[in-house]
Amino acid sequence: MSDKASKQLYIPLMQNALDFIDKGLSEFKEYEKNDIKLLKYVTLHVHAGIELILKARLINEHWSFVFKDLDKASQESYQNGDFISIDMVVAFKRLKNLCDIEIDAAFEQACNDLRKKRNKIDHFEMNESIETLIGCVVKVLVGIIDFLRTEFDEKSISAEENKILDRIKSYLLENQKYILVKLTAIAPKLSTVENVIKCPQCGQKTFVLDEGEELCECYFCNYKSTDYRKVADAYVENVLNISAYSCAKDGEPWPVTSCIECGLDSFVDVPGNYICFNCKKKFEDEDVVKCEVCGNTVCKSSGDESNICYDCYNAIEYKA
Ligand SMILES: [Zn+2]
Ligand SMILES: [Zn+2]
Ligand SMILES: [Zn+2]
Repeated sequence: MSDKASKQLYIPLMQNALDFIDKGLSEFKEYEKNDIKLLKYVTLHVHAGIELILKARLINEHWSFVFKDLDKASQESYQNGDFISIDMVVAFKRLKNLCDIEIDAAFEQACNDLRKKRNKIDHFEMNESIETLIGCVVKVLVGIIDFLRTEFDEKSISAEENKILDRIKSYLLENQKYILVKLTAIAPKLSTVENVIKCPQCGQKTFVLDEGEELCECYFCNYKSTDYRKVADAYVENVLNISAYSCAKDGEPWPVTSCIECGLDSFVDVPGNYICFNCKKKFEDEDVVKCEVCGNTVCKSSGDESNICYDCYNAIEYKA
């Protein structure tokens, strides 16, 4: 036996699942280029990946939940993978009834449609409208990305799994069909918030600065950070298209200053107004002026008083 053949091949469940989806997407790329028949493997592989992710979530609750017949569940057969497992329909039922998880109805419907298409391919023949099939696959992917985010602890995803997941996400976030379906899916949620700006990460106008929420978050790519300064800097670079290099070269100040409301360095000068990525307050240009001494942003004073920031005012007082 060669060295290679004597080695053990082990692929953990979540990695196995993501591998299938990754493979399905690489086939989708090839389909787009030339080979229509590859849609068959896209269907099979995406379906396999989705089913495994649903099972992984059930196992997080209890390993026996993936046994079709719960009475036959045993540690030994689980460890050996020697048991009759559930399908997607039962997986959804158990996720709702045993794990108390709210499943998005559109996601479940799309998964069901995909399952039926997959079964036909596996057991009979393939005869599908390409447009409907792709629409179904995309809806399933929109749902599973959300399911992964809400139902799995980030820390439980290994480095290798994260690498595959990042590849999947970056492909999807640039796919026009995915963008369209995802934007439609988040539209109702977006309509309930007031302040929505372009996202520093994906560029979609889906980044929510809501005073009621603790963090600013993108409803499209789910970018968020507790580092308000980092988000402000990313906004300047990626949305306003101002680079630190060009600022330094032209002697221009970096357009992130301290907020006139909360005082933190998260106040960005955008055309027409100022926004704070920490307290999420928004101010019109006319309400904000630069300190006459240091140039920092301050609240415009009323009347004839001079516009001097708190620090500079204290410094002058101290000297006097
Ligand atoms: Zn985004
Ligand atoms: Zn603020
Ligand atoms: Zn000052």
